[in-house]
Amino acid sequence: MAKAQLSSDRFHLQGIYACPLCRHGQISAMPLMETFSCNFCHHIFTTNFEQQVLKIADSQLPLAWRWNGKNWKGVQREGTELGWSYLGIGIIFVVLPTAIIATGSYLFPPLPGSPLSWLPLWWTILTFLAHLFCLIWLIVEYYQFPIFLYFRALRRRFFARWHAN
Ligand SMILES: [Zn+2]
Repeated sequence: MAKAQLSSDRFHLQGIYACPLCRHGQISAMPLMETFSCNFCHHIFTTNFEQQVLKIADSQLPLAWRWNGKNWKGVQREGTELGWSYLGIGIIFVVLPTAIIATGSYLFPPLPGSPLSWLPLWWTILTFLAHLFCLIWLIVEYYQFPIFLYFRALRRRFFARWHAN
């Protein structure tokens, strides 16, 4: 394959670039087309060379990246910047229920040696983890981080290697 070198100042049809989605593979132009595809995650991207923008074509997620001459930068959609107030609400969402449960078990401790004396501590930890998970999930959903595409690509690579052995 006679392709231009990996790093190029401008995003152009003949170039080969690191895949912005899986960050493992390399994307290059598909034969006779203006679309790019990745040799690792096999996703297809549409290109806009004037704006130096790459958009994912085969996903529901509205993901796009702009080439800055060295690497890809995610194109933020309008109004997707999370404010500090949201971060504060998120922290309260995690800390407050945990604090209530912890205070409850501190004020009304279980009888020492009773069979379920371990429960309040575990319940507190579980509350914290469950709420933290909800918060992380919301952030992942909000920013449309391609976590599932990433895991799917990793799994595919793992099985490809496994079958090759
Ligand atoms: Zn990829």
